Amino acid sequence: MVEIMKLEVKFINKYLKMKNSIIRKLIFTLIGLIVTSCNNDKELEIENLEVKLSNKIERVEPPNWWVGMKTRDLQLLVYGKNISDYVPVINSSNAKLVSTEKVKNKNYLFLNISISKNAEPENIEINFLNDNIVVDRYKFSLLERKENSSKVEGFNNSDVMYLITPDRYVNGDPENDDVEYMYERPNRDNNRGLHGGDLQGIINNLDYIEDLGFTTIWLNPVLENNMKKSSYHGYSTTDYYKIDPRFGTNELFKELSLKSKEKGIKLVMDLIPNHCGSEHWFFIDPPMDDWINNQSGFKQTSHNRETVQDIYASEIDKKEHADGWFVETMPDLNQKNKKMSKYLIQNTLWWIEYAELSGIRVDTYPYSDKDFMSDWTFSVMNEYPNFNIVGEEWSDSPIVISYWQKDMINHDGYVSYLPTLMDFPLQISFAEALTDDFDWGKGFIKPYKTLASDFLYPNPNNLLIFPDNHDMARFYTQVNNDLDLFKMGIVYYSTMRGIPQFYYGTEILMNSDENPGDHGLIRTEFPGGWPDHSKNAFTGDGLSFKEQQTQSFFKEILNWRKDNEVIHNGKLIQFAPKDEIYSFFRILDDKMVWVIFNRNDSSKKLNTARFKELIADKKIGYDVLNKKRISISNHIILEKKSALIIEIE
Ligand code: CA
Repeated sequence: MVEIMKLEVKFINKYLKMKNSIIRKLIFTLIGLIVTSCNNDKELEIENLEVKLSNKIERVEPPNWWVGMKTRDLQLLVYGKNISDYVPVINSSNAKLVSTEKVKNKNYLFLNISISKNAEPENIEINFLNDNIVVDRYKFSLLERKENSSKVEGFNNSDVMYLITPDRYVNGDPENDDVEYMYERPNRDNNRGLHGGDLQGIINNLDYIEDLGFTTIWLNPVLENNMKKSSYHGYSTTDYYKIDPRFGTNELFKELSLKSKEKGIKLVMDLIPNHCGSEHWFFIDPPMDDWINNQSGFKQTSHNRETVQDIYASEIDKKEHADGWFVETMPDLNQKNKKMSKYLIQNTLWWIEYAELSGIRVDTYPYSDKDFMSDWTFSVMNEYPNFNIVGEEWSDSPIVISYWQKDMINHDGYVSYLPTLMDFPLQISFAEALTDDFDWGKGFIKPYKTLASDFLYPNPNNLLIFPDNHDMARFYTQVNNDLDLFKMGIVYYSTMRGIPQFYYGTEILMNSDENPGDHGLIRTEFPGGWPDHSKNAFTGDGLSFKEQQTQSFFKEILNWRKDNEVIHNGKLIQFAPKDEIYSFFRILDDKMVWVIFNRNDSSKKLNTARFKELIADKKIGYDVLNKKRISISNHIILEKKSALIIEIE
């Protein structure tokens, strides 16, 4: 039978070049019949065959699937020494092997499998034959799907996101700090080394996160990063189906997701479809010549992201941007290769389904092949219509950012299905506003103008807003350790349109003063996460008065925001800043919240007459932060460098 299969391959190869499509179709139908009859023969025979199992298979990816998914046509990547010498046979009424594809590298086989629409859960046996001897077997499980898993609600503007760098949060399991098979040893003295933080540490402290008022956790990447150095940050994937053992196991990741869910906290996974780590097994032994861009040798990306939208861009500039590697240790995946594209899409769906995720954050979004990103986002949102994905496009221009948002009608016809983007323009302009000189064109006019460009976005309420993240100076450092300015920022991001995100430790004024942009320093250990820390943010032990005060401030404002629909979905009206006093309203039905900022070094009296179009004849408001009722009928006293949140009664 193997001989017949070999003949078939020759037959295909010979006639594949024929241009007459009708004849081609006839040939393929005929081949299909032969293959089916061969497989049927095997169905009858398989139990009678000699079995000499010899562990040929090293990997099958995805390792399993679920019944009832929209995605039923799978492509399994099978990896093992000379695996392509063997003939896979599937004997199941729930799934059939449509075709097997060999590639240049004999260590790979791609199995195209179709799962039937009404498939039942089953452990499907895939037998690999060599001259009628079964040389290996793989149990491919078709699992039952959790009820309503397709309806999972993604993070949205009712949520506030807590960003955690897992290696630096809490060491909940010292046993996994040093994993023997991995290249890098732990070293807490090196701020770019492994410090031992892990998933157990986060699980142990979910109460703290819940208590602060966060409803979503975004973790920097947690997939295996078996790199020789700087593996702590997680952005160099070496196994797409395995949680890094220094963080825990796949099961523990799922546990974190489920335990978070019990507390009303959604989990967001950070994925990097653009590149893998240079220690990835499929980079070291690639299936074919075009699996990776610039596979023959490292070429750095030009970082010219403008080429994506530029109507004058040359082909070479587009290529140098999109196909270059992010850095030498991060080879650029060729998503134009259909097998790579399928691999990445299945991998994402697998994690969402497996870990019951509520969102994905996509690293280096515009560095990927943009048509692939369109397919990828479509596939995810098609499978999970209420899900959310946030993409990173680090641009200061809403024109560039809006290009990527779902429903955008673009000049080049590009269609995106990405619901959420990170609002870098607002982050940049608001940080500048707080620290600017008091000159014309400076200060609050900047975020005011940025918001005035919101018409560009199909859905500005779906932007992720943030004062900082793991890649930039800590917010407290950005505002030069000025607690008043810092609090103004927290109020701004907690009341502005969009989905707020704060980086771990912001709640206790963690800074990166020593070297503001140093990544290792920005991602400093969270106090209380290691037994030798002198202070503990979880218990409050050793925190300064300022730090405690800030923590309480976060807790208060985030919990106030939690069920406050007017902040989640309310209409936004802003009033142009005057004398560095800036304010906006959030309005929903009969609810109105007025947020006012005074950046001056002195207290100011704000005449409320200019705001009559909204406050009309309302006379009283509730000052949320100072917990008292105030008059708004004539004027309001604004303390120096302060923010006010007023619920108009
Ligand atoms: Ca650990």
